[in-house]
Amino acid sequence: MAKVFRNGTIISWDESSQSIKVLRDSDLLIEGDTITAIGKDVQVSTDAEVIDATDKILSPGFIDTHTHLWQTAFRTLAPNTTLAEYFGSYGPWAPIIKSFSPEDIYTCTLAGLYESLNGGTTAFLEHAHNNWSIDVVKRGYDAGVQSGARLWWCVAADDRQGITGEEMLDGLAKHRRGNDGGGLVELGLAWDGMGSQSAEEVDRKKHLVKSHNLTALTHHQLGGPWPVGNNAPTKAASNQLQDLDLPIIFSHAGFATPSDIAALREHNWYLSITPESELLYGHGQQTSRLVQDQASLGIDTSFTFSGDLLTQARIWLQSVRGVAYNKALETGKIPKQSPMKVEDAFLLATRQGARALRRNDLGVLKVGAKADIVVFDGTAPNMAGWTDPVAAVILHANVGDIKHVLVGGEWRKWDGKLVLKDGDWPSFQKKFAEMARRIQGENPRPQPLGEKFFGMKDFVDVEVMTTTR
Ligand SMILES: [Zn+2]
Repeated sequence: MAKVFRNGTIISWDESSQSIKVLRDSDLLIEGDTITAIGKDVQVSTDAEVIDATDKILSPGFIDTHTHLWQTAFRTLAPNTTLAEYFGSYGPWAPIIKSFSPEDIYTCTLAGLYESLNGGTTAFLEHAHNNWSIDVVKRGYDAGVQSGARLWWCVAADDRQGITGEEMLDGLAKHRRGNDGGGLVELGLAWDGMGSQSAEEVDRKKHLVKSHNLTALTHHQLGGPWPVGNNAPTKAASNQLQDLDLPIIFSHAGFATPSDIAALREHNWYLSITPESELLYGHGQQTSRLVQDQASLGIDTSFTFSGDLLTQARIWLQSVRGVAYNKALETGKIPKQSPMKVEDAFLLATRQGARALRRNDLGVLKVGAKADIVVFDGTAPNMAGWTDPVAAVILHANVGDIKHVLVGGEWRKWDGKLVLKDGDWPSFQKKFAEMARRIQGENPRPQPLGEKFFGMKDFVDVEVMTTTR
């Protein structure tokens, strides 16, 4: 059945100028999974579902280009952690993984997806490093399908005890047959450590991409003093990954070198900036603001902070402004203009994610685009009085203002409540909360740090601020 929103404010996309176009008192028609008309007094069949959008803002769904959803089980476990602690205590090689059954992985991955869908994220690139057994790989994927979200499920097909990367991907590909969420879930590869891999290992990974027709590739990139994941875009170019002709997204890259940035632009590859994660863990972030033309936004590990892109876009916008203002003020003179526009923060969370995934039909509201839509209530105390819908969304809205969410024309949130494919939120919440508390109870403290990070890099004390004297 067709759906039509009547009389809303639509943050649409103007193809000719390649820019946001705000339409007021307008209608938006959805037929199947696609937007088929936008404008005044759109004609519809008599059986169409009509939704009054008076005082509502219609936005494209947000696109999250870097997540590790299984870690949702750790929510609030490590609010003051660092990246060094993360590696040893909460990552996919840490002892904590012994606490997870395959069923736990399903539940906590689905919990992470529900959090983000509730917050208006409709598409995700998952760096699925839950890869310590084939059953864990499969059940994580099943959660992706069950969520009803649009997903690029990028499996970390690494050699682990008892299983090779090839066996892992083969096993998942077989499991996936006829089980792709109605075409919403695509398969990709999460490929870390390229910088230290032999030519033979690189060829193995390239063969995996081609033999399974994978549609995206992702790689962590740190740089700077971090001894892992450095110069990945440069290495990818020298390994001729451009010949694979698929989207490649490098997460973080806060210390991208000039050759990394050149590789991104030359081969149309993207960074996924994860603002709150990088601030909390201390990845360091010196360069991503300089390459926003080839960047999108991601969440990373939402167990330590919010899982919604509204918050990420806002934090990123204001932190970029802060850096530029401080640089200007250090001259002893007065900043003359704002360093970054709110529209660019909005585009990083929407259109840029779609560009990163090479999808012209996502991240925008236009005729022919997929109906991945977020509807904000513009009448809440924090929203009332808005005239600019982009500023209202990026600077004033919160998740509680999101009334409806659609993915491919299907309701995933309706009137402020999640729409689950199966079961109900209260029952799911109870199951997830019991599991999370058990896992956290079994792992109350982080693992001790060694003498050196990864046995090779010195630690340094940081400035510590407190509220006590
Ligand atoms: Zn990550």
